[in-house]
Amino acid sequence: VVDWLLEEGGRVAGVRGHRVGGGVVELRAPIVIGADGQHSLVARAVRAPTYGVHPSQTLMYYSYWAGVPADGLENYRRQDSLVFVFPTNDDLTLLAVEQPRSHFPAFRTDIEGSLLRAIGRSPRLADRLAAGRRVERFKGTADLASFFRKPYGPGWALVGDAGYFKDPILGQGISDSFRDADLLVGALDLTLTGAAPWEEALGGYERERNAAALPAYELNYRLSTFGVVPATPPGLFTALQGAEEQIDRYFSLSAGTYPIHEFFAEANLARILGAQPLAA
Ligand SMILES: Cc1cc2nc3c(=O)[nH]c(=O)nc-3n(C[C@H](O)[C@H](O)[C@H](O)COP(=O)(O)OP(=O)(O)OC[C@H]3O[C@@H](n4cnc5c(N)ncnc54)[C@H](O)[C@@H]3O)c2cc1C
Repeated sequence: VVDWLLEEGGRVAGVRGHRVGGGVVELRAPIVIGADGQHSLVARAVRAPTYGVHPSQTLMYYSYWAGVPADGLENYRRQDSLVFVFPTNDDLTLLAVEQPRSHFPAFRTDIEGSLLRAIGRSPRLADRLAAGRRVERFKGTADLASFFRKPYGPGWALVGDAGYFKDPILGQGISDSFRDADLLVGALDLTLTGAAPWEEALGGYERERNAAALPAYELNYRLSTFGVVPATPPGLFTALQGAEEQIDRYFSLSAGTYPIHEFFAEANLARILGAQPLAA
């Protein structure tokens, strides 16, 4: 476990920590990468500047059930509750509820009851759940403020949730973390091979990360307010019926695998609404 950073000549030079069984450890390295999550110790130690902050708007609680088969992602929205259901390992099904943050004090005093009330608005799901068995405790949080951190400085870099964090409403945190790890590795390769100076290579990492993240980041935040979501053109869902390729793209938006701005680009919407064939 890392307890703090080592510093030398104004730059990070390694980590100091302890082994779980006991014993202090010091490790030196030319670059320390904080892949240590939302509450990153590395970010704290270097006082990484934070920007683009949006306050936490939601609470989320989840657990795992046996005997509740699910084929794919199910998504239920009922007034101020969003329920996600999806299959995971060991034949278990994850069920998560997201609600406005103002419900947090009441929700946490009776988690099971609150969850059942939220699911009760979807009777078929409630029946499926009643036929299964919860196999883990509930986990939940309302600590879901969104932010970017400057992801590099002398001798350090941040990646994944340590570098930027957002509400889990679109479920993109894991894929974004992999994407950023890829970008960071590219930047480190440039600087370690001498192809680009540190500032240029790592500055490029920050710019590319932000450019890739921003459209979904803002949409994600707006969704998390349970308020008005970006306007969907009238007739979109009717026009999507049967247009398999465009349907795939639409669902890829929430998976983060198709760019939001490309889907909602005028030309693409015209193609869908005018039912014209897709360009190759
Ligand atoms: C309620 C909730 C639901 C979510 N649902 C989804 C979802 O459905 N899909 C999705 O893609 N994303 C989801 N996310 C987001 C996703 O969990 C994160 O984006 C992802 O886990 C980030 O990975 P990471 O490796 O950057 O950080 P983390 O997964 O947080 O990993 C950081 C690791 O660093 C370790 N660490 C921290 N401090 C130290 C230290 N001092 N010394 C040593 N080790 C340390 C931690 O123990 C941890 O193992 C959800 C998040 C929340 C809060």
